[in-house]
Amino acid sequence: MGKRIFEALNDFITRTHEMCAFVVDFSDGGFDVMSNGIFSAILDGSVNPLEQLAESKCIHEADSVVLGAFCRDLLNSCKIPIQEDHFTVPFRGIVSDDPSDADYKWINLTVVIDRGDDLTAKCIIGHLRLMNNAEILNKIITDSFTNDKHPQVFNGQAKRIIEDTSRNAAIVQFDIEKFKLINVKYGEEKGTEILNYIKNGLDTICTDKQVYTRLSADVFMIAMSYDKPEEIERLISRIEERLGSFGDISYKLVFGVNIVTDRSVPMRKLGDRTAMARQSIKGNALKNVCYYSENQESSLVSKKFIEDRMDYALEHGEFVMYLQPKYSISTAGVVGAEALVRWIHPEKGMLPPAEFIAVFEKNGFITKLDRYIWEQACKAIRGWIDSGVQPVPISVNISRVHLTDEKFIDDLDALVEKYDIPKNMIETEITESVENAGDGDVIKKLKERGYMLLMDDFGSGYSSLNMLKNTPFDVIKIDRDFFSEFMLSDRGKKIISHTISMSKDIGLDMVAEGVETKEQAEFLHNCGCDVAQGYFYSKPVSLNDFEHIAYDDFIATD
Ligand code: C2E
Ligand code: CA
Ligand code: CA
Repeated sequence: MGKRIFEALNDFITRTHEMCAFVVDFSDGGFDVMSNGIFSAILDGSVNPLEQLAESKCIHEADSVVLGAFCRDLLNSCKIPIQEDHFTVPFRGIVSDDPSDADYKWINLTVVIDRGDDLTAKCIIGHLRLMNNAEILNKIITDSFTNDKHPQVFNGQAKRIIEDTSRNAAIVQFDIEKFKLINVKYGEEKGTEILNYIKNGLDTICTDKQVYTRLSADVFMIAMSYDKPEEIERLISRIEERLGSFGDISYKLVFGVNIVTDRSVPMRKLGDRTAMARQSIKGNALKNVCYYSENQESSLVSKKFIEDRMDYALEHGEFVMYLQPKYSISTAGVVGAEALVRWIHPEKGMLPPAEFIAVFEKNGFITKLDRYIWEQACKAIRGWIDSGVQPVPISVNISRVHLTDEKFIDDLDALVEKYDIPKNMIETEITESVENAGDGDVIKKLKERGYMLLMDDFGSGYSSLNMLKNTPFDVIKIDRDFFSEFMLSDRGKKIISHTISMSKDIGLDMVAEGVETKEQAEFLHNCGCDVAQGYFYSKPVSLNDFEHIAYDDFIATD
């Protein structure tokens, strides 16, 4: 069939002066180019036209990456989603060999895929066509609108999609995780290039049922209508596949999805909710797509509420230290605890750290709060010593904010001195990440000053294995998401088991976080990890409850 269309096209080309067509036959790799010479600088028929388009020096720099990726995807036809057969890619190129005509012109590449019964691509037919003035104008206008200059235009288009009750609607947002680091590592110019690449790429990926805009530097938003939920997943995987790396720079795209259930909700609110879903998975190494759900919102207190109240809350004892016991799997006894903060608000009830820690890390209040929790931990240990029970060490979380300034070690020392407790009763939990990889000196100092170091969230972050190489850490805590996810498959279990034996080999102790079932505890035990923390044993509890759990016959002194 392809050949027949091609011949018809050829016929057409001989009559018009603005087109060029080609066919690529996947069954034998053969190709053919029909041209009356107008695109001679771009396609000369000597090599496979898709290869030629992908490599051509005549394509405008700003469009060549997208066009190149598209043509390579076509050559590698398995990457093209089978549900779609028709694509248009606009780009700028120098069309003619004539040096007097060396301006870039707007061109549309259209390809149609002809598939066999088994849906594999049999052949593609493509044509190049100069865009007419109206099209060019339209393209320039849409570009400038999607360039975050006129989000109203997007809002208008999105509104139409949402109001069309004949189809389902969803809002998708995505951004580049740790985009700032790309700017730092490769320079801002590269960063801008990547963002333009993504913007241009969205142009070719989004259909007329999917409109997009750029909300801020690296945040993009798409409003789409769909019939089946798979269409959302397909869009996301296309974006990831096509736009998830730039040359040899790869990065992670993080997506939030909001299925529109109430079409009367204003666009701004829909966007906020989508952002909420997207932000909820920041830093989670195992997940990059999150669907908005109502309880995500209802549990959230606003940043303003948090900031207005934080000082008052600290002064009035609203922040409370909870302790989560760490158990020895073999003896089933409590061998330690982790201090986790809770905000007990008189009206809102107990707020978990996920709701406020990030705000405090941004505004710096975390250093005050951490210090307060460290003091509660020292106080608790003093209490245990005074009542004559065998104290267990408490590990405290050291926010990454501290790691840029070693002064906090003096604060810790002062507290240990004030409560006159052995230094080895306070352990420190630190999450190593690419952001604080350079702060190794502060971490080393902490160790030199006599504190036990626990590497928090091992397996969740950036290059954890690499960090083990020269690590001053004494203990690694296997992250609960890493742990629960890897427990699901034999392969994952092997990785956990080898991680444990390797860590033991190099003299590190292990604590497993998020142990929720007996099977998990047994598995860890068989792998040689004896310390576990998790709901299977106990949730984080108040100091009072902890004392009952850890010291049956505990009698508090105050
Ligand atoms: P984290 O340091 O990784 O703490 C462990 C988290 O896992 C705690 O969440 C704990 O309640 C939860 N968890 C423990 N066992 C299980 C389990 O079996 N299943 C599940 N699903 N979860 C389990 P929490 O208390 O909500 O704390 C969240 C994070 O907030 C902490 O993660 C830590 O990064 C931060 N955080 C908590 N307290 C403090 C603090 O005082 N200072 C600082 N800087 N960060 C804190
Ligand atoms: Ca921790
Ligand atoms: Ca952790």
